[in-house]
Amino acid sequence: MKKKITIAGNGFASLFFIMYFLDSPVFPFFAWCFRRMYSRYDMTVIGNGAFVYFPAIPEFLTHKRNTQCITVDIRSFLGRRNIRLIEDRIIDVQDGGRTVVTEHGRYANDALFLGIGPSFRKDDLPGTREYTYSPCYGPDDMARFTSRLESLDQGIVYIGYKINKKDGFVAGRTGPMYECACLLDAALKKRGARDRFEIHFFSPNRTPGEKGALTDRLRERGIIMDDGYLPAAFVEGGMVDHDGTFRKADLVLYSPEITGAPFLRQSCLPVSAGGHIDVDRYGQVRGLHNVFAAGDCASHEAPPPWVPHQAHMAQLRAQAAAQNLKAALKNKSPTHRYRHELSCILDMDNDAMWMHIAEDDRPPFWNLFPRRSKHLIQVKALFERLFLFYLRYL
Ligand SMILES: Cc1cc2nc3c(=O)[nH]c(=O)nc-3n(C[C@H](O)[C@H](O)[C@H](O)COP(=O)(O)OP(=O)(O)OC[C@H]3O[C@@H](n4cnc5c(N)ncnc54)[C@H](O)[C@@H]3O)c2cc1C
Repeated sequence: MKKKITIAGNGFASLFFIMYFLDSPVFPFFAWCFRRMYSRYDMTVIGNGAFVYFPAIPEFLTHKRNTQCITVDIRSFLGRRNIRLIEDRIIDVQDGGRTVVTEHGRYANDALFLGIGPSFRKDDLPGTREYTYSPCYGPDDMARFTSRLESLDQGIVYIGYKINKKDGFVAGRTGPMYECACLLDAALKKRGARDRFEIHFFSPNRTPGEKGALTDRLRERGIIMDDGYLPAAFVEGGMVDHDGTFRKADLVLYSPEITGAPFLRQSCLPVSAGGHIDVDRYGQVRGLHNVFAAGDCASHEAPPPWVPHQAHMAQLRAQAAAQNLKAALKNKSPTHRYRHELSCILDMDNDAMWMHIAEDDRPPFWNLFPRRSKHLIQVKALFERLFLFYLRYL
């Protein structure tokens, strides 16, 4: 009997999991035929079938990207691998992980991988849903923000973030918000309108007067630093402070704290203090048999305080989970741990920086690339093109 493997979600973590789980991750041309004959597993993905390349969303501001070019219909990617797609939304996980409940059905499995991504605490601050936009909610929300921006001839724009630190790591989108601030500056300069806009950068997680390379890049661009600031509420036309003072803001781009999906708490999955699926260093969901999780939905075991939720981390974690699940299916103990590493290229349109911290001090790509150069924008675009090409054609 083929083992039934269910993969929840079709974002970075799940697709990297598939890539590392299959013996031959690349299936050009007629290879699906070969896979049909030799497949050892009966694999199913439950998700919406549309992959979104989130790291390119900030470039909506400079019109270098749009929804269409960063979204991939993954049905043929899955078809080439003989993986079934169930277009549905998971609402519960039961029986120690052996049953996945969706809006329209129930699916049994022998092994489960969860890559269902983040949830955002939109109800943490009143008015977040109604009066703020966010690149974190996906391309549609970012497209709405850019079109609102273009309807303004002058104004005040606030960009900010808040981190959930309850699990001891950075459960928040910091890098993309710095990137959005720099790209907003670039977009307004291109329009010849920069002097008619005030850009503020705020976060309760920044200490007043904070220094560093990211702060320098924002200051160079005339962005006003509201370090330590968080409003009491977002309201029509601005924000209200804790002392009742009104601050005018024509537009707010805000990334709330990241946590796990709301349904986790009523499911059989263990939940961390910060609301993530509780996993160990091998990607195993604690206390459950043959259940693994990776990416933004999962917590870390003993993380360094700087490690963020990233596509890059989702890849490292999914790789370990795939290798450990293969071992588990052969009744072997897990041996593959993942490294903690922060690595991303910050695109500022006329400049770029490679932000990098690794727990073993390993540099990115054997130090082949400079840490600061406008050419890094092309390197970042190359990673994107390669990954999207892989999903579309291989
Ligand atoms: C604006 C922005 C810029 C970024 N820039 C970078 C960068 O430069 N470098 C970097 O490494 N990372 C970056 N990131 C972070 C990166 O995109 C995430 O860490 C990554 O997407 C996490 O992968 P994931 O698979 O866990 O979640 P996702 O990619 O969000 O995928 C989750 C999947 O689960 C599905 N799903 C969710 N709930 C359910 C459900 N109930 N049932 C079924 N399916 C479900 C979703 O539809 C989706 O397919 C950025 C993020 C943003 C928002």
